[in-house]
Amino acid sequence: MHAKVSCTFALLLLLGLQRTDASHWSYPDRDLDEVFPSWGGICDTGTLQSPIDLSITKSLKGVFDELKLDNFEDKQSGVTVVNNGHSIQLANFNNEMEVEGGPLRDEYVVEQVHLHWWSEHTINNVRYPLEAHIVSRNKRYANVTMASNFKDGLTVIAVLYHVSNERNEAIDQIVDYLDDVKDFDKINEPVRMKNPFVVRQLFPKLNGYMTYSGSLTTPSCAEAVTWIVLSETFPVTLEQVDNFKQIQNEEKITLKNNYRDLQKANNRPVIVVLPLDKSVSDAASPLQLSMGTLFFMLIAAKLL
Ligand SMILES: [Zn+2]
Repeated sequence: MHAKVSCTFALLLLLGLQRTDASHWSYPDRDLDEVFPSWGGICDTGTLQSPIDLSITKSLKGVFDELKLDNFEDKQSGVTVVNNGHSIQLANFNNEMEVEGGPLRDEYVVEQVHLHWWSEHTINNVRYPLEAHIVSRNKRYANVTMASNFKDGLTVIAVLYHVSNERNEAIDQIVDYLDDVKDFDKINEPVRMKNPFVVRQLFPKLNGYMTYSGSLTTPSCAEAVTWIVLSETFPVTLEQVDNFKQIQNEEKITLKNNYRDLQKANNRPVIVVLPLDKSVSDAASPLQLSMGTLFFMLIAAKLL
């Protein structure tokens, strides 16, 4: 038995040299001061990893075309909720939602939405209790796996939630299904939502955002993500967030948190985009950069 376990472990280590095994990775128990585990591959060696700390004052101010979210207001029926052992994920959106404009050069289609309890990104070193990731794939590529091989393959809209006494209705609609999916023997068994779900209700008015080039925050950690982190946070109660902390992982251990440690920014430019009307009124600001300059800086950062 021991020999078999060792062999398996050695094989996993070997595979880890090229790519991390897709299912066997975990988060540390931070209450026990466990060290963040090595996830292998580009997770350990990459230079454009996420999440990072974001600072509006240290960001460059940029102006892009309007960021467009198409069909986000649609009532999606038959949305599935699943505990994948690392997060709670929503998928199976019957009305295609698209993201385009802003820092993106192509059209992206929404694939899934999932949550991290304790935010992954921090703003001015403040960690928020919850972060939602709306993951979209560049339509040039057939699926997420293929898209993750390209720098422009994916975009993730991140929404951070601040503590409030006001319950978040959209989050409550997800919380309603946690009892059905939380146990380890329900992992990867999706449950269909009975009522329509509107993805747009997960985040506030688009009051500007911060964007930078980064990676997936879970293995494979592919450096294929244009991050769009909304500047305005949305309310959630701590009681709501506590519901997510009951989720079990494959080892039957409660997933008390599922956020990755902050990664090195490595001088990556973070561009802050102000709300459209505010950008116009500030048009004379000397800090403002042209689109061409921004693209040059983004490209230069990737070459370094
Ligand atoms: Zn995520």
